[in-house]
Amino acid sequence: MTLCEVCRRRGARYVCRICGREVCEEHYDVARGICAICSETLCAVCGSRLAVDSCAVCGRLVCRKCSVELQPGIRVCGDCYRDLPRLVKEDPRLSYLARLLRRS
Ligand SMILES: [Zn+2]
Ligand SMILES: [Zn+2]
Ligand SMILES: [Zn+2]
Ligand SMILES: [Zn+2]
Repeated sequence: MTLCEVCRRRGARYVCRICGREVCEEHYDVARGICAICSETLCAVCGSRLAVDSCAVCGRLVCRKCSVELQPGIRVCGDCYRDLPRLVKEDPRLSYLARLLRRS
């Protein structure tokens, strides 16, 4: 019997479709077909690719496809990117993002 690669205590019954880990039912999200580790690092927008960063505005985890990199290390999700001019007006703390936006 193969042991779950997350807990190493229960037998593995599923294979994660993203990372290929063999996991037990406790550490598998049947609806999404992914393991517990991937579900923690999954893009909050599309829910199918692994996140590379979190949005600098809303904090959601985002993958490369669902986000725009304003500067290395600063990424915003597609929704916030579209709304950025309005968000920046409402929250002065985000004005640094508007400057990056103009530059890009
Ligand atoms: Zn497990
Ligand atoms: Zn996984
Ligand atoms: Zn995504
Ligand atoms: Zn966002």
